[in-house]
Amino acid sequence: MTYAAPLDDMRFVLNHLAGLPEIVTFPGFEEAEPELVDAILTEAARFAAEVLAPLNASGDRQGCRSAGGKVATPDGFPEAYRQFIEAGWHAMPASPDIGGQGLPALVSSAVAEMWKSANLAFSLCQMLTMGAVQALAHHASDELKQRFLPKLVAGEWTGTMNLTEPQAGSDLSAIRARAEPDGDHYRLFGSKIFITWGEHDVAENIIHLVLARLPDAPPGTRGISLFVAPKFLANPDGSLGSRNDLVCASIEHKLGIHGSPTAVMSYGDKEGAIAYLVGQPNRGLEYMFTMMNHARLLVGLEGVAISEAAYQKAVEYARNRVQGKPIGSAERAPIIQHPDVRRMLMDMKARTEAMRALAYCTAACMDRAQHHPDAAERARNNGRVELLTPVVKGWCSESSIMIASNGIQVHGGMGYVEETGAAQHLRDARITTIYEGTTGIQANDLIGRKLARDKGVNAGALIRDMKAELEALASTNDTDLAAIRSGLRAALRAFEEATSWMLAHYESDPREAAAGAVPYLRLTGAVTGGWQMARAARIARDLLPSGEESAAFLRAKIATARFYAEHVLPEAETSRDEITVGAASTLALEEALF
Ligand SMILES: Cc1cc2nc3c(=O)[nH]c(=O)nc-3n(C[C@H](O)[C@H](O)[C@H](O)COP(=O)(O)OP(=O)(O)OC[C@H]3O[C@@H](n4cnc5c(N)ncnc54)[C@H](O)[C@@H]3O)c2cc1C
Repeated sequence: MTYAAPLDDMRFVLNHLAGLPEIVTFPGFEEAEPELVDAILTEAARFAAEVLAPLNASGDRQGCRSAGGKVATPDGFPEAYRQFIEAGWHAMPASPDIGGQGLPALVSSAVAEMWKSANLAFSLCQMLTMGAVQALAHHASDELKQRFLPKLVAGEWTGTMNLTEPQAGSDLSAIRARAEPDGDHYRLFGSKIFITWGEHDVAENIIHLVLARLPDAPPGTRGISLFVAPKFLANPDGSLGSRNDLVCASIEHKLGIHGSPTAVMSYGDKEGAIAYLVGQPNRGLEYMFTMMNHARLLVGLEGVAISEAAYQKAVEYARNRVQGKPIGSAERAPIIQHPDVRRMLMDMKARTEAMRALAYCTAACMDRAQHHPDAAERARNNGRVELLTPVVKGWCSESSIMIASNGIQVHGGMGYVEETGAAQHLRDARITTIYEGTTGIQANDLIGRKLARDKGVNAGALIRDMKAELEALASTNDTDLAAIRSGLRAALRAFEEATSWMLAHYESDPREAAAGAVPYLRLTGAVTGGWQMARAARIARDLLPSGEESAAFLRAKIATARFYAEHVLPEAETSRDEITVGAASTLALEEALF
C-alpha cells in the first residue's frame, strides 16, 4: 500500500476553514507555533507513508495470532510501535501537564487522520491508550495518576476500554462484571468481549479500564463504576510487579482490521483481578461520557481516513488501467477518461473533502469550547460540538463504506480480489459504523439529547450560520459559486423542514421520530458538509488572484465543491422525504417483517 497524506487539502482546511491561525493564539496553545505545526504535519506524513503504510496490507493478510493467553501482532508491528513511541508520536495528543505536547485537538486530528489512512489497525492501539489516559487524567486520584499516567502517555504501557459484554453492547445498563472490595483495592470478576488491543506483544504492560458493578450498586446505568486493572501490577517505583488474574481467553476472527487484536478478556478466573476504583463509585458511565465526544470524533476521522486511502488507490489505478476507447477518441486509453469513472472518482473525492472539512471544523470547535478566552464563545462552541459529534461519527463512517465500495468499482474485478488492497478498505471501513456507538445509537443521540433536549437552540444557531454563508455567496456573480449556492439553498431548506418535523414528532410520536433518526443524521451530514464545501469554494475563489497558493489546487477545490453541490446535496431532499413522508411506513405494519 502506498499513501501520501493530502497535505495541501489538510492545510487548506486547517488554516482557511477551521481557523487554526486564531486557535493557536488561545491560552494553553503557546507551544503551537505555525512553523512547529507545519513541521509536525510534514514529519507525520513521512512516518505514515514510510513506516505504517507498508505494514497495512501485510498486517491484514497475516493478522494476529493467539495461543495460551498470548497474542502476536503481525510482523513489523512491534518494531513500528517502537519507532512510533521513540519519535514521540504517541504522547503528542496528550496535554502538557501530563507529558503531552499541548497542541490543539485540530492539529492532532489531522495527524490522527494520517495514522488511520496509513494503517487503521495499528492506529487503534494509540487511540485506545489515549482514551485511557484521558479517563485517568480527568477522574482518577493523584496516586493512580502517578502510578499509571507517565508510562501510558509515553506509550511504554498501552491502555484499553472494557465496556462490552455478551449481553451488554449498545445497552450498557446490562453490564454484569462485578468488583468486590478487598482492603485498599478491589477484586474484579467477569468477562468482556471485543476488547481492542486487549492483549498484544508491542508493549510490556496493558492497563485495562473496566466497567463493573459494586456489590451494593443500584441496577441499571446508575450502578456502574470504573476500575483500572493492569495486566502486571505496578510497583511504587514504576517497575513491573506480579501478573494479575486477568487473561485474554481468545481473539476474534473478523471482517477487517486484522492487525488489531480484538480480545475476549476474562477477569478473576482464580482469586479475582486486582483493580482500583477510578473516581467515585457508580459514576463509571458518566466518566466514560466525558471522553465520548473525542473518541467519536476520532472514529468519524477513521471514515475520512479510509475514504482518502480508497480514493488515492482508485485514482492511481484509473490513471494506469487501459480499457476501451473514450467517447470521441480512436485510441484505447486509461479508464480515467471514461465519464462514468470520472463520476465515481469525483464522488469519492468530493465526499471525502466535505467530511474532512466537517470533522476538522468540529475539532476546532472543541478547541474553542475549551480554550477560547471568552466564556460566551466557549459555551456556543460547546453546543456546536455536542450537536455535530454524532454527525461526524455517523455520517463519515457510513459514507466511508460507500466510498470504499466505489473504490472497488473503479478497479472492476481487480478491486474484488485482494491483490490491489481496494477490498481491504471496504472490509476495514465496515467496523467504523459499529464500534464507539452504532449509527442507530448516534442518530438517537442526535435527535434526542442534541436536538430535542434544547428544543432546537443549537440546531437553530447552525442554520443561521449556514444562511450567512448563502448571503456571502450571493454577493458574487461567479457561475460556479452561483451553482453551489443554489444547491446549498435547497438542501438547507430541506434541513430546516426536517428539523421542524423532528422537533414536533419527538414529543408527539417518538417512534416515528426514531424511524427518521438515521435519515436525519445523514441529512445533517450532507448539508453541513455542503456548507463547508461552499465556504471552501468561496475562499478558494477569493485566494486565486493573490497567487499565494497553488492555482491548480484552488481551481480543483471550486470544481469539487460544485460537484458536491450538484451530486451530493440533492440527497438532502430525498432524506427529508424519507423522514417527513416515509417514517410512518417504516412502522406501518408489524407483520411486514415476519
Ligand atoms: C472489532 C470490534 C472492536 C471493538 N472494540 C471495543 C472495545 O475496545 N471496547 C469495548 O468495550 N467494546 C468494543 N467493541 C464493541 C462495540 O462497541 C459494540 O459491538 C457496539 O457497541 C454494538 O454493540 P453490539 O455489538 O452488542 O450490538 P447491539 O447493541 O446488539 O446492536 C445490534 C443492532 O441493534 C441496533 N440497536 C441496538 N439498540 C438500539 C436502540 N436503542 N435504538 C436503535 N437501534 C438499536 C444497533 O444500532 C445495531 O444495528 C468492539 C466491537 C468490534 C466488533
